[in-house]
Amino acid sequence: MSPVMTQNIPMLDLKAQYAAIREEIQTALNSVFESQQFVLGPSVSKLESEIAEFCGARFAVGVASGTDALILALRVANIGPGDEVIVPGFSFLATAECASLLGATPVFADIAPDTFTLDPASMARKITGRTRAIIPVHLFGQAADMDPILDLARQHRLTVVEDNAQAIGATYKGRHTGTLGEHGCLSFFPSKNLGGWGDGGMVITNSEEKAKRLRSLRNYGGVQKYMSDEIGWNSRLDEIQAAVLRVKLRHLGEWNRSRRAHAARYDSLLSNMPGVVTPGQGGWGDHVFHQYTIRARQRDKIQKRLTERGIASTVYYPVPLHLQPAYAFLGYKTGDLSESERAAAEVLSLPIYPELKAEQIDFIVAGISDALGA
Ligand SMILES: *Cc1c(COP(=O)(O)O)cnc(C)c1O
Repeated sequence: MSPVMTQNIPMLDLKAQYAAIREEIQTALNSVFESQQFVLGPSVSKLESEIAEFCGARFAVGVASGTDALILALRVANIGPGDEVIVPGFSFLATAECASLLGATPVFADIAPDTFTLDPASMARKITGRTRAIIPVHLFGQAADMDPILDLARQHRLTVVEDNAQAIGATYKGRHTGTLGEHGCLSFFPSKNLGGWGDGGMVITNSEEKAKRLRSLRNYGGVQKYMSDEIGWNSRLDEIQAAVLRVKLRHLGEWNRSRRAHAARYDSLLSNMPGVVTPGQGGWGDHVFHQYTIRARQRDKIQKRLTERGIASTVYYPVPLHLQPAYAFLGYKTGDLSESERAAAEVLSLPIYPELKAEQIDFIVAGISDALGA
């Protein structure tokens, strides 16, 4: 028997990314070090304008994390105790937690199986007299089907806060995700398509009034020093993050195109493999493949074989939000959101990042094929 070939393929290779932009980053960081200005300075304002322009939004407000972006956006809509906020059952915990942290109740709706994003029909069934907001998530870099969501929101006067943490650069019918609702929330967590060197986030909006309130809420509820109009947060983006992000933003379009090209290669190699379902793309815009996520009944077997060959893979997310222990008090049970639960049981995200090589994709696909005995 010949030994099994292995290659070390991570989920994401930030060292390779850094090697390609090292000088640009060091120059940008040096200017922050020389200025000795660290919080809400010129780099943050410039990044805010550049992100707003990149996304086609009028305003952008830097905050301390993607989670804070969601919290502050809901707060601007005055969401609080007694209010219900509809969120998909299949997402990262922060999508629901932002409502809970303001004293509101997240109400979990199901997802559409092909895109892993909010199912508008399920959303419609969850609307009650207490529903105040809806948080569609552009999960894995794929835009949710926004038109029916926006229609329902208009009919029921709901605030739409888009969780765009995984989808900067994605589009829906020609417009950037994050600009379709009242607010779009971005995360600059290091592993995101546009990642900083620590935590960071941003809220984008077309409303000048809302941008103004966000600027106040991130800074103790006041724009003027030592004068607070309301209770706010300390949730600010710092200059070091902004300097790194400004450099990376110049490369984001090209990086997202590489991710799409890699996804196309995965698609062509996997689409006829029995036992594997490739990710759907909705047909309404550009997916930016924060993750390339397949479905397979034999998911665990595939993951085991990939691990044996040195290939990383991750289950995002193994437990749907409505079944998280933290939300046991809401009383949901298995069977309540069948598509969210099926996704949690079947998904597997494969390595995808701009620096990934075609041969590595071929090696990963060979591992999957081998696991399935194809
Ligand atoms: C990363 C992420 C967040 C939270 O962002 P942080 O910057 O880590 O706080 C929220 N929602 C989704 C879908 C995410 O992937």
